[in-house]
Amino acid sequence: MQTIDEALEKLSRSSFRAGFHLSRALRAYAEEKGMDTLRTHAREFVHTRLAPAYIPNDGKQTPMRGHPVFIAQHATATCCRGCLEKWYRVKAGKELTPAQEEKIVGLIMAWLEREMQNDKNGQIPPLQRE
Ligand SMILES: [Zn+2]
Repeated sequence: MQTIDEALEKLSRSSFRAGFHLSRALRAYAEEKGMDTLRTHAREFVHTRLAPAYIPNDGKQTPMRGHPVFIAQHATATCCRGCLEKWYRVKAGKELTPAQEEKIVGLIMAWLEREMQNDKNGQIPPLQRE
């Protein structure tokens, strides 16, 4: 399996995936909660919404707004089992292992760290941040 940096590099070449950014409100939420709390949320979301073998609403279980981790999931193609299979060859229809869950959480958190850093450095165009 590829490293987190390789995955982020590949995602940055998809204009659809690279188009996701945290809104002002979600950045404020992320600042307020801190990365440790966001990691706890990411673990919870991945475990309950992505890890089961059978997900009745797969493809629709991750909202497009409302939580920084949801946005990070769309940006990293870890939003549903269909995207996981397409991007990372993780077979759908089979429960994720704890190691797979942690790897996914690691990727989500790496994206969030980078997004927050890029924002501080002024590297995200204002129109994409509102
Ligand atoms: Zn998806």
